[in-house]
Amino acid sequence: MKRIVFLSGGIGSWAAGMRVKEKYGSDDIINIFTDTKKKNDRHPHRGEDQDLYRFLNESWSYIGGGLEWVSVGKHIWQVFEEVRYMANTRLDPCSRILKREAARNWIEKRFAPEEVTLYLGIDWTEEHRSKKCREYWKPYQVEFPLINEPYLSKEDMCLWVERYGVNRPRLYDMGFSHNNCGGFCVKAGQGHFYNLLKQMPERYAYHEAKQEELFLVIGKRFPFIRRTVDKQINYLSLKEFRKLVEKDELNNNETSIDLMDIGGCGCFNDV
Ligand code: SF4
Repeated sequence: MKRIVFLSGGIGSWAAGMRVKEKYGSDDIINIFTDTKKKNDRHPHRGEDQDLYRFLNESWSYIGGGLEWVSVGKHIWQVFEEVRYMANTRLDPCSRILKREAARNWIEKRFAPEEVTLYLGIDWTEEHRSKKCREYWKPYQVEFPLINEPYLSKEDMCLWVERYGVNRPRLYDMGFSHNNCGGFCVKAGQGHFYNLLKQMPERYAYHEAKQEELFLVIGKRFPFIRRTVDKQINYLSLKEFRKLVEKDELNNNETSIDLMDIGGCGCFNDV
């Protein structure tokens, strides 16, 4: 029986892999990392944060087994252009194509369902996501090692990897709740994008420009940052959102952005 750990480059999937190793040993483990860009693409804002690759390379060997690096050779904006659709919280062709289908294709070519168990980093605070996830991966069997006691917080997991001398992914220290797509995510909320704009304005500008290009290609504006004002829901593009932040600052107003609206991101889990 092979044990396939979906490593995302975040701390949760690493900790899940460590629990698999603690229970079964390393011999049958295969770690799969699905990249959101071509492997040799060095663009600073495409794919994952540079520090994610550092974290992945430094940390995976403590889980042991092998590491398979899977890439369909595209980045998220190429996917949106191909499907002619701006992804959002409800529909995410980016993670479907670059993560879930890429991993499934890799697994199906090599293993029958009875030959492997899949392991995902959903933890005890997200147990509600596990049911849909199990359905999605059928007929393969999926386990969630972090759902079980002893319960670990994200900080517990970061301290765990740091005991091996590996620094936690830098995005956590920069206030990001996840370490996917370099701090960008079509499923993120206003607070998340505010943080991206403040912490990494160049990366924000890259995504803003790509979104404007996409709107031209598909011939309509289809923004996804959800903002509720007086019970009225509006959707803002990255450009409109940035201008709103700048306007507040210009007027010395307290920001009108809901900083608590972080949104969710789980490329493998939100199926
Ligand atoms: S992190 Fe967000 S934007 Fe990136 S692939 Fe996953 S769902 Fe898409």
